[in-house]
Amino acid sequence: MNKKITIAIDGFSSTGKSTIAKLLAKKYNYIYVDTGAMYRAVSLFAKNNQLVGKDFLKKEELISCLANVSLSFKFNNEIGFAEMFLNDKNVEKEIRTLEISQLVSKVSTISEVRKKLVSEQQLMGVDSGIVMDGRDIGSVVFPNADLKLFMTASADKRATRRYKELIDRGDNVDFNEILFNVQERDRIDSTREDSPLLMTNDAIEFDNSDMGITEQFERICTLVESKIS
Ligand code: C5P
Repeated sequence: MNKKITIAIDGFSSTGKSTIAKLLAKKYNYIYVDTGAMYRAVSLFAKNNQLVGKDFLKKEELISCLANVSLSFKFNNEIGFAEMFLNDKNVEKEIRTLEISQLVSKVSTISEVRKKLVSEQQLMGVDSGIVMDGRDIGSVVFPNADLKLFMTASADKRATRRYKELIDRGDNVDFNEILFNVQERDRIDSTREDSPLLMTNDAIEFDNSDMGITEQFERICTLVESKIS
């Protein structure tokens, strides 16, 4: 029997991490955890309680409210993956807006937020057979992961993908605003003090600016096979 492993996928915004992670989880029957959804849900909570906005972040107040933030994933059989629930409400759609994308990196700099989410993520991974994507999975959440992937792509390609996703779901968005958001999140995520986005020495880099998802997935599956057999 194949052994179950822990797969960590990190990288810049909109590099297709979640697409690859979902395909891997399906193929190997693994649990998939989208940690970005958790940071987005905390940001939605903060926005709904007027604790964060375009020009402000009430850090201390948010920290004191964190005990009231309950996050869970519930598997949706119809779509084939787990959706994000904030205090028992399905927020899957609300957390994917450009507005939340514009707030999330600010909220993610708060160490107390990270501590809470990292410990929940580590609990989800105690049994292996898990694929988790984010920014600090290989560096902080699972530094001993069996396979670490690091995804990159040009900012222009990434913004084009994100723009298409938002247009397809009916959001009225401007391409340049998306491009700015992608670059701005990269900047904040890579330069924050606590758990900045970085590629660990043992991670394998995939630049998918010009690589299709099928080719990339095949290459990654070869790496997985070498680890599990
Ligand atoms: O993956 P996604 O683009 O949905 O992540 C949204 C944001 O959440 C990132 O830009 C980053 O600020 C934050 N994040 C993080 N650590 C993670 C996952 C996401 O700081 N592990």
